[in-house]
Amino acid sequence: MKKTIPVKKNEYIEVTFEDLTHDGAGVAKVEGYPIFVANALPGERAVIKVTKTNNGYAFGRLIELLEKSPERVDLSMEDQNRYGGCQIQHLSYKGQLAFKEKQVREVMTRIGKLEDVMIHPIIGMEEPTHYRNKAQVPVGEKDGKLIAGFFKPRSHDIVETKESIIQHQVINEAVQAVKEIFSDLHIPAYNEKTHKGVLRHIMARYGKQTGELMVVLVTRTDSIPFVETVVKEIIARLPHVKSIVHNVNSKKTNVILGEKMNILWGSEVIYDFIGDVKFAISAKSFYQVNPDQTKVLYEKALEYAGLTGKETVIDAYCGIGTISLFLAQKAKKVFGVEIVPEAIEDARRNAQLNEITNAEFAVGAAETVITDWYKEGNAADVLVVDPPRKGCDESLLNTIIDMKPKKVVYVSCNPGTLARDLRILEDGGYKTTDLQPVDMFPMTAHVECVSQLILKEGN
Ligand code: SAH
Repeated sequence: MKKTIPVKKNEYIEVTFEDLTHDGAGVAKVEGYPIFVANALPGERAVIKVTKTNNGYAFGRLIELLEKSPERVDLSMEDQNRYGGCQIQHLSYKGQLAFKEKQVREVMTRIGKLEDVMIHPIIGMEEPTHYRNKAQVPVGEKDGKLIAGFFKPRSHDIVETKESIIQHQVINEAVQAVKEIFSDLHIPAYNEKTHKGVLRHIMARYGKQTGELMVVLVTRTDSIPFVETVVKEIIARLPHVKSIVHNVNSKKTNVILGEKMNILWGSEVIYDFIGDVKFAISAKSFYQVNPDQTKVLYEKALEYAGLTGKETVIDAYCGIGTISLFLAQKAKKVFGVEIVPEAIEDARRNAQLNEITNAEFAVGAAETVITDWYKEGNAADVLVVDPPRKGCDESLLNTIIDMKPKKVVYVSCNPGTLARDLRILEDGGYKTTDLQPVDMFPMTAHVECVSQLILKEGN
């Protein structure tokens, strides 16, 4: 029997919010039927407009807050723009940490059916602002001047953002300076509708430990008008700059970077450190966006791995080898596996840069490469996984269960799939002993976790 839906599209109703979804929207219920509304907090009463109804749930828009949560941070329109559409910017930082920790605890019980794992209090940042080391900012035009900011949700209208709360100040300054330099030279912004104009995106990356800045100018056109003046001005205005790159993207696409890359000035890469490990970062390299908290996370992973110098370690989903190189300092040998060939090139280069000789890297799907290794008679003492949001492929989990490494360290950016995979490993003979949530992305709803599993005796 089809249940009737208790609300109608475009209807205005008064609700009280009970909870937050995993992506930070408020949840209110009408006769048990959930309605999801962005920018609302548990305990708040509000008038909302129902914007879309489905069989099991609806979406709504916040119209008027009648009763506010004590955890709400009031933000002016200008402040909201400074956050650039972060999902939980309106929640106090203490409230954000509690929300993330609660979410982890809930899914471990509900999905993972894990009763006695030690879930440690989430590690937050002392100063949860200006933490990002990379920005890719779309450029547009307004009143004859260039503007740079973020796309309004579900649209391609640019909201001008002079200072992002989550970006490092050196990055904010770089974006403003480049925008003004192009604007003063009357170089037009790219227009998506007409596919005309020049400057599409300003990208900036900053090595916090080295103080090195990279500026990437993404244009539709093969050349940049007045390019010498542009370069001269960037150098004059941005004392941290070590690299100026021109990227050409002539396609009608939402993808930011194009194929063609051309160094206009300085070096091809900038450097940064996580702990004692040095990384070379090119315009296209993947690199963690919050290096301070990455260090916290990796130190925990290293602690959980419990290395003594004798172990063979496999690092699955290794990216540019960040975790592998961190572990190699304490292991006998580390094998990293990653599906993107360019990332593996970076990993090998980073190993050389640090004179690390006990780390080897292979390109391929972790589930295939590691399963083949195992079939050839290889095994690891410790296995580390750090998969994308969808979690580990089940065949990889089965290979782990067969291979029986003494320890598994699971790093995850999605508590839901982490809980699912921990259940499979538990059923296969492992015990999850510790789980540490780390706040890598303040103001957003993302939660990162690292967990330790040990092989149970008799397995
Ligand atoms: N451990 C790295 C990167 C983790 S992000 C770090 O901390 O920096 C997850 C990585 O898994 C990405 O680099 C992605 O390219 C890779 N990946 C996705 N599917 C994969 C698969 N099936 N096998 C191996 N790597 C995969």
